[in-house]
Amino acid sequence: MSKPYLETQPDKKGFFGKYGGAFLPPILEKPLAEIEEKYQQLKDDPVFIAELNSVRKHYQGRPTPISYAKNLSEYCGGAKIYLKREDLNHTGAHKLNHCMAEVMLAKYLGKKKVLAETGAGQHGVALATAAAYFGLECEIHMGEVDIKKEHPNVVRMKILGATVVPATHGLKTLKEAVDSAFGVYMETYEDTLFCVGSVVGPHPFPLMVRNFQSIVGFEAKEQFLELEEKLPNHVIACVGGGSNAMGIFSGFIDDDEVVLTGVEPEGKGKKIGEHAASLTYGEEGIMHGFNSIMLTDEEGEPAPVHSIASGINYPSVGPEQAYLNSIGRTQVALCNDDESIDAFYKLSQLEGIIPALESAHAIAYAMKLAKTLPKDQTILVNLSGRGDKDIDFVVENYPIPKHSE
Ligand SMILES: *Cc1c(COP(=O)(O)O)cnc(C)c1O
Repeated sequence: MSKPYLETQPDKKGFFGKYGGAFLPPILEKPLAEIEEKYQQLKDDPVFIAELNSVRKHYQGRPTPISYAKNLSEYCGGAKIYLKREDLNHTGAHKLNHCMAEVMLAKYLGKKKVLAETGAGQHGVALATAAAYFGLECEIHMGEVDIKKEHPNVVRMKILGATVVPATHGLKTLKEAVDSAFGVYMETYEDTLFCVGSVVGPHPFPLMVRNFQSIVGFEAKEQFLELEEKLPNHVIACVGGGSNAMGIFSGFIDDDEVVLTGVEPEGKGKKIGEHAASLTYGEEGIMHGFNSIMLTDEEGEPAPVHSIASGINYPSVGPEQAYLNSIGRTQVALCNDDESIDAFYKLSQLEGIIPALESAHAIAYAMKLAKTLPKDQTILVNLSGRGDKDIDFVVENYPIPKHSE
């Protein structure tokens, strides 16, 4: 038998085919090598594994269930739709899966502090939660504009004990927050671990974050086999950086008969600035320390992007997703803002589950696909998070439909 896929990618330098790697200022080469060495040692260490498993079970509430969306499936009138319920993971999304593990790694590395940037604040909240649990300091950099826009998440981070540092230069959003956090990291790496929020950034982060998220796919495969006594025909996840997608895909990559689809945000349209569909409309290039497919403007700088779901509003994509797409193992679908709102309300009213707007992109594509498939086919969707964070924005901009509409 050949090796399981996950053991074959990335290579020693962190390349998935030609994508990935580590394109860094020389000063950061040593600290990143130290992180990788420790990670390679801990991933097979029974003490580390036992602690992580215990945290997942007794603190996060894993395994999360798989729910059969009976009403939604009947509404669509075709394939059966199942949901992997990462909305029930502590803090309400999949991000805590890698944040708990990253902060544990920081603890085993003897670091005192974890550091990150955040856009909408979701990664900041998950990291602040993990830091509180493990008793480490937490510093989150966030653009001044985003701080005003994402007030509840800023308050959450502060309640959890994190320091929120505003990025006050340039456009005062995510890019400036990355610059600001990286600046601090270059001066403080001796006692600080930089924690990346998705399967992006320089090696070894895409590898580590994928492996920390793969629990979602491993659980899902076992649970699905128990429920249906066969594998799903389709597995679907929304793609921003790609961590929830790589998490659930990890359970099924070696099963060639399972179709794996990442759903990208087409926002308001196909023009640059109207969407954040990097794999669909982007080109190869280097950004944020890694080589992948990305959206750039005429100067080669990260292009402006738009999605109603801020968590998937990113001008690039993780290198592994770019690789799997290039070899045809995964495929991409699109969902625009309006379709995601429709799916948001449909799942709420038919199943009693309010999804995150990010996850609603995956639901929208699943609904479209289900209608075209016979009833004996099955679709498994990664419901990456719950939608509490989105409710005010949604009802202010899109009136609540009557249940029958
Ligand atoms: C952050 C976020 C995403 C997007 O991140 P990926 O790394 O692409 O998974 C998706 N869903 C939710 C709920 C999120 O918070």
